[in-house]
Amino acid sequence: MIEQYGWSDLLTQAFAPHARAGHTPGRVVLQQRDGYLVVTDQGEVRAKASGRLLHEAKEIGHPAVGDWVAVSLTPQERTGVIQAILPRSTAFVRRAAHSSRGLQIIAANIDVAFVVTSMNADLNPRRIQRYLAAAWQSGARPVVVLTKSDLCDDPQAQVAEIAALATDCPVLMVSARQDLGLDALLAQVKPGETCVLIGSSGVGKSSLVNAFLNEDRMATQAIREADDQGRHTTSHRQLILLPGGGMIIDTPGVREVGLIDAEEGVDAVFDDIERLPQDCRFNDCSHANEPGCAVRAALESGALAPERWAHFQKLKLELAAAEEKAERAARDVERRRLAGLQKHYRATKRNDRGLRD
Ligand code: GDP
Ligand code: ZN
Repeated sequence: MIEQYGWSDLLTQAFAPHARAGHTPGRVVLQQRDGYLVVTDQGEVRAKASGRLLHEAKEIGHPAVGDWVAVSLTPQERTGVIQAILPRSTAFVRRAAHSSRGLQIIAANIDVAFVVTSMNADLNPRRIQRYLAAAWQSGARPVVVLTKSDLCDDPQAQVAEIAALATDCPVLMVSARQDLGLDALLAQVKPGETCVLIGSSGVGKSSLVNAFLNEDRMATQAIREADDQGRHTTSHRQLILLPGGGMIIDTPGVREVGLIDAEEGVDAVFDDIERLPQDCRFNDCSHANEPGCAVRAALESGALAPERWAHFQKLKLELAAAEEKAERAARDVERRRLAGLQKHYRATKRNDRGLRD
């Protein structure tokens, strides 16, 4: 059952010590004030975080929707205690206003972030860039979605305009009303992958989720119930299976993620790796073959998994490239705006002269 939620060989490896401790792996699908709903191979269980986890929350945050966790199950009852959170591959993070409260994880292990904007509203490049930045910072792949194409006379022109702004990610257009482009959107989320929709209120995010689930909701429910030995499943979840094998996380916190300072997403997920180079002998260590390199030592001792190190390096490169591109795109937009103003100004002057002559 947890394979359906994206369980992988890498996670099996990370889980090994917890398996030895007799714990069960699961994924958090709902967060409520008084606890969590976690899917496991034994079905869905209600769980609370252990005292030790609460203690660690300042560093790694509380469990969040999308997290893979190690649960100790109570026999008979369908409840458990979350004993550990597996390392997150990506996360949307908010630094709590009060720094002593530490990290707030909004959602974890998201592969694709759909940056949603509506075609009938004014195009706001800055806002799109802010959402794109939040997506990149989290570690997820951004995909720009232009909604309500049925309300737009020349949708292709708008797609082209956005594509010039978001050069390193796909730009798709959809109409939930006319059922156009939904399959192409779903195709961006591979089986076992998790997506989110981020964007301002009113752009059509709920309509998209509903459109995704409408036809296949019954089928999805049937699969769930079969896997759950026919037991009735809780209908309300924040992590939902999509037709096609992907998942979507839909919570108010995720939707607003672009409005907050998400700069620290990658740093928070990779905090331990960020700190490693401080222990390298040389300040400018490239972690290649310098003596006294703390990163290579950690890799050799097994303290740092090579996959995580590779993922971290890749994200850093992508982030740097994305920031540069966003900056360049913003400069281009500004230049075009200025050029337009100058043209307008010259034309007005010509007109003025024309009137005077
Ligand atoms: P959210 O706040 O981003 O979740 O936006 P909603 O999904 O609630 O949609 C906001 C409004 O836009 C609603 O009145 C929808 O009916 C409308 N809407 C959503 N998708 C479409 C679409 O594809 N075409 C048209 N014409 N309207 C849409
Ligand atoms: Zn080094």
